[in-house]
Amino acid sequence: MGSFRNPCQWQFTWEAFCHNSFLRLFLFTPSLSLKSHYFSNITATVETLKSHSNAYSLQTLLVRWLEEEETSYNGNHLVDVSLRVPVPRVLLDLGFPPEVKVLEGYVEIKLVLLLPVDHPLVNDFIAVSHDCDTEDQEGSIDGIMDTDINKLSSMGEVHFYCKSCSMKLTRQSLRSFVEMPSVNWRESADNWFGSCCCSFGGASEKLASVYENSLYCMKGICHLDCTSVVICKDDLTDHPFSDNESKTKKHEAQIDPVNTNKFTGLNLESGKLEKLGQFCGNECAGNGHFFEEMVKSLTVKESSVGFLGAREHGEGNNFNYSNASLGSGFIIRVSSTANSVRWTEFLCAQCSLLVGSYPSVGEDKFPLDDGIRLFKCHISTSDKVGGPDDIFRNHTLQRVFVKHLLDSARDEVSYRTVIRDIRTKLPVLQLILVNPKVWSCTGNCWDTNGDIGEAALPHVKPVVKVLFRDHDLTTKDESRLVDEWSTKMEADEIYMMTQDIRDLVAFLKSAQARLPYSCSLLQGMFLSYLER
Ligand SMILES: [Zn+2]
Ligand SMILES: [Zn+2]
Repeated sequence: MGSFRNPCQWQFTWEAFCHNSFLRLFLFTPSLSLKSHYFSNITATVETLKSHSNAYSLQTLLVRWLEEEETSYNGNHLVDVSLRVPVPRVLLDLGFPPEVKVLEGYVEIKLVLLLPVDHPLVNDFIAVSHDCDTEDQEGSIDGIMDTDINKLSSMGEVHFYCKSCSMKLTRQSLRSFVEMPSVNWRESADNWFGSCCCSFGGASEKLASVYENSLYCMKGICHLDCTSVVICKDDLTDHPFSDNESKTKKHEAQIDPVNTNKFTGLNLESGKLEKLGQFCGNECAGNGHFFEEMVKSLTVKESSVGFLGAREHGEGNNFNYSNASLGSGFIIRVSSTANSVRWTEFLCAQCSLLVGSYPSVGEDKFPLDDGIRLFKCHISTSDKVGGPDDIFRNHTLQRVFVKHLLDSARDEVSYRTVIRDIRTKLPVLQLILVNPKVWSCTGNCWDTNGDIGEAALPHVKPVVKVLFRDHDLTTKDESRLVDEWSTKMEADEIYMMTQDIRDLVAFLKSAQARLPYSCSLLQGMFLSYLER
């Protein structure tokens, strides 16, 4: 039992919630089974220590208890055990003593905060009290759409690189970045003109055809959404689709460059909206029929629209986009009518790792709209991956996935989703969003005698708390059970690339170890975190 006394055997996980003035500590030993009877007289005190190398002070939690020790000659006797838990940089209210509870398999300690961790003043206070700069908001990918387009546009010429091996993926630099068209344009156009006070013969038709053309991925133009960039296959350095050039040429001939430019301009500069005003006369403007409204209705979030399905016209590349963009290919919602579209993984030619995907139909191995989706979490905008010029350095797989999860969940309590493998269509992962706004950090406890030296304080990082269950090799029965669960729970059904789901499962399993096993199992699912 002596190994319980080694502080390094003890793991801590701090957890804080938004708008909540508690900081909760889980203290446990992952490798040893822990029973409450080992403890007596457990106490916890917050200590402020001066670090030698750092000018600022560190706060740690000193935890002591008495442990039974068996001795060969004298039966059992009690030994004083102590360890230190580093406290993350938060504003503690030291007027309240720590609240200690010994629970099945772990110790829970609660500290009271002066301000919740997400309070805007917290960083300012910490900066003053520690006389140092606070960590920048590195990591957050909130509001990424606008900023990503702005950042890319301001770079002038952009190349994309594989995040794993930094191979250049683009043949020529890209300069034009626009938001991915996603909404059912034809419907918007019909609605708009349908309720119009005056008649515009064919205007709706014209607009719809402009929009449909814009769904095609043209050379030099890069479409973006929250998860991916879509570029024309001809902008790639290396792609296996060159034998189909005749098809591409045929399509390019159909595009009216004037109209296409106008449409593309819509997303970039509102000034260009006026040009389209010709479709609707002034007398209409008086009734509030502005083109701006129509355009605004276009920018409804991709997540709410998803993939509306497209119809196959004849064979191969002659595909009719009468409805909407095929989407970003990272997270795919396949309506039952659109199963003819098949998504294929697009791999880096050098390291063979997943960088994106593309849609095709039937046996055709050709990207349907000429567009290759490159996932932001797998590419870089600089050959120095993760460096200052890499706009996508914060777009990890977890964060991009979680962003999508939160957008889909909106404010729904315990939002549920089933993630299926795009190839097999089998369910691989069930997820329940338990808490969308959590801050957490984890690590090993410190010795009470040792010199804390250069030891760094842990930083609480933004995470979401989820319940998950993965299905490695899904059997028919298992698949049916998930289907039933999905229907009963009204779960959202999404499809992802095999490798991305595998990686998500690996993250979930590893983060599961941040919580004591005894409290990680709930309703047959495991509690875990994903970074946000
Ligand atoms: Zn009108
Ligand atoms: Zn690569």
